[in-house]
Amino acid sequence: MLHPDRLFPSDPTQRDIARRLYAEVGHLPIISPHGHTDPSWFAKNEAFPNPASLFVVPDHYAFRMLYSQGVALESLGVPRKDGGAVESDPRKIWRQLAQNWHLFRGTPTRMWLDHAFETVFGVTERLSGASADRIFDQIDACLQKPEFLPRALFERFNIELLATTESPLDTLEHHRAIRESGWKGRVITAFRPDPVVDPEFEGFQANVETLGALSGENTGTWAGYLAALRNRRQYFKEVGGATSTDHGHATATTADLSDADAERLFEKALRGTITAAEAEIFRGQMLTEMAKMSLDDGLVMQIHPGSFRNHNPGVFERFGRDKGADIPTGTEYVRALKPLLDRVGNERDLTIILFTLDETSYARELAPLAGHYPALRVGPAWWFHDSPEGMRRYREMITETAGFYNTVGFNDDTRAFCSIPARHDVARRVDCAFLARLVAEHRLEEDEAAEVAVDLAYTLAKKAYKL
Ligand SMILES: [Zn+2]
Repeated sequence: MLHPDRLFPSDPTQRDIARRLYAEVGHLPIISPHGHTDPSWFAKNEAFPNPASLFVVPDHYAFRMLYSQGVALESLGVPRKDGGAVESDPRKIWRQLAQNWHLFRGTPTRMWLDHAFETVFGVTERLSGASADRIFDQIDACLQKPEFLPRALFERFNIELLATTESPLDTLEHHRAIRESGWKGRVITAFRPDPVVDPEFEGFQANVETLGALSGENTGTWAGYLAALRNRRQYFKEVGGATSTDHGHATATTADLSDADAERLFEKALRGTITAAEAEIFRGQMLTEMAKMSLDDGLVMQIHPGSFRNHNPGVFERFGRDKGADIPTGTEYVRALKPLLDRVGNERDLTIILFTLDETSYARELAPLAGHYPALRVGPAWWFHDSPEGMRRYREMITETAGFYNTVGFNDDTRAFCSIPARHDVARRVDCAFLARLVAEHRLEEDEAAEVAVDLAYTLAKKAYKL
């Protein structure tokens, strides 16, 4: 199913160059500095139970497409918040994917899954209603074998480092267990404070209380709250090996308030009397607070704005967050980031990685910002744009102003473990194809392009995330 020249240019000159560049990077170890896999997989190293729980139930890319065509999430085994009945037969869940496989034609999900089926499980026929049970049985039989346990796959995928993402309220017990197990695989956490810095996050007040209990600080006061956050960041560094923080705000708004003003907003947030407009300013203030803490503790900041989360209230009420109902919005950065940049933009020892779901910001805002401010870098094509076309558009619109070295390599950003090699392979191929065009147009010597290809596939991620 997998053609060796997939994603390379069809022009023979460029294709030859792309092949030569890819030969230098295809085999490099995977650095995965941002993602959402479950650390308990590597702590417990238990067999993945079945093909459906590996490929369908946790993958919102897969089930949002099926849902859009009328497949009920219950029938895909997605757990309900109220504990109500959902499909529990993995074979029936798998058949839903197989019978609807045509829906994924032309999508990156199709490429990732085909890659995983073939390279991980040796599947050589296309998924369909007719082949569903055969492929289910083949993958299911593999999953019983020791060489398909999470740690064995981690090693086989040639992952040098994998970062997960946890809330400050997480005890990091799985990360601790991984370290104490003596296993050599490097799995680290990232500090994702949204539940305790966003007054509109579900359970904010209770979350802040728990933050106080975990850190031994009095989070009833602004000073205690900041101390608690500093404490948890340190804990994430020490116990979870964290080198980065991650911020998923609805906008890129930042603020730089006086202590007294920040404290007033914090008190309103705790009392539940904060307005939506004030909550927006508070989140913005917290980005600046996080940047100031990063100056002290060295954690790299990632800002992932522009997702209208839980757009579908019916799905949110029944199934909760991250169920494929997040929709991109237009995102403004130039004015929104100014308070933060006025404060820390010129810092050379601080790294803030900006992501976007709004491609119109690439050439107009993000590349010029990262092409000037020493503290800024542009993160890779993200989420809805993590596709061959999305990556090409990204390189075309970013490189002219920010070059390659204000970008940070690739993030797979995935919950779907078996798609990690596929996603990195797509990124490497698309970058080689982009570089091949520059070489063919005599804009770059091939030896320089080869160096850039290695940097994009490997070196830049290690450097940007301090790994
Ligand atoms: Zn993410």
